Amino acid sequence: MIRMKMKPKCLACHKELSLFSRLARHRFCSEQHEQAYMAELEELALERLGCARATLAVVQHRQRVLNSEEEARHLENASPLLRPIA
Ligand SMILES: [Zn+2]
Repeated sequence: MIRMKMKPKCLACHKELSLFSRLARHRFCSEQHEQAYMAELEELALERLGCARATLAVVQHRQRVLNSEEEARHLENASPLLRPIA
């Protein structure tokens, strides 16, 4: 006999699914819970995306600052002939 490791439960409320839901391979006990779960997932995905974008902006800003600091140091150490005329 094949035993199921886990009884299928609604992904939103974790209630055990009815036999009909299981047979239909539903993952939610109701349409409302499916919609709520999907909305939450979407929100999470957008949040993560926003977070990734913010991180990228910080990294890019930092890179620009480092580049300009590097450039300034380079100019300080360069021969007076290579320095830009103020
Ligand atoms: Zn549910």
